[in-house]
Amino acid sequence: MASGSRIIAIDGPAGTGKSTTAREVASRLGWRYVDSGAFYRVAALLALRHDLDLTVPADRGRLREALEAADVGQEVVGGTSHVRLEGEDVTVEIRTPAVTAIVSRVADDPDLREIVNVGLRGQVGKEPAVIDGRDIGTVVFPDAFLKVFLLASLEERARRRVAEAEPGREDDPTVLASYAQSLAERDRRDRERSVAPLRPADDALYLDTSGLDFDTQVARVVRAARERLRMDA
Ligand code: C5P
Repeated sequence: MASGSRIIAIDGPAGTGKSTTAREVASRLGWRYVDSGAFYRVAALLALRHDLDLTVPADRGRLREALEAADVGQEVVGGTSHVRLEGEDVTVEIRTPAVTAIVSRVADDPDLREIVNVGLRGQVGKEPAVIDGRDIGTVVFPDAFLKVFLLASLEERARRRVAEAEPGREDDPTVLASYAQSLAERDRRDRERSVAPLRPADDALYLDTSGLDFDTQVARVVRAARERLRMDA
């Protein structure tokens, strides 16, 4: 098999466990893990740092220039994926509510998406990799040898997000409702945008993670990958 297609694409809505699953699958296969959402999050961080107004076309242009010039790196250290911007570790900052609130608006710019895609294709391709995102199987790596689309109920996804961000408050209906609302809003934007909308690839393997424990979830993807690698050997 050509090494260019030794890519596992893991797409799906927010909070389905894409990044944790992708990271663990990569670790079990000994492959590289790449978080494509991190690039959009870095772009959103740049928009905030440069005080750019996403409704102003000239500011959109400035953002694209800033992203194109930026040195963005990713590495997994001790099971955690670290994101660097000009060498600065921005792993925590790109996950703040301020960044999350604007990231799907940043990601609806086709020209900015092209910058991210060129970066992703440049970083990956020579070595096997597991990449998670929204359009990896449909747009960025349509020849990925395994495409997975993760699903989970909105309630379950909100619960997982609360457990990460505000542990202990998973049963508070007001907190849950507010996380569910922001997840649903981000999904809506990601699904409805005209370029590279969130959708499963025609040949994607669907995995509903609502009732699955993490190990089973990871094992299913690893098994599918190994079966396909054997078939192609
Ligand atoms: O994966 P994560 O939730 O960190 O992604 C943040 C946002 O980046 C998504 O809500 C989406 O707007 C955008 N994104 C995208 N395409 C990707 C990955 C992320 O549009 N491949």
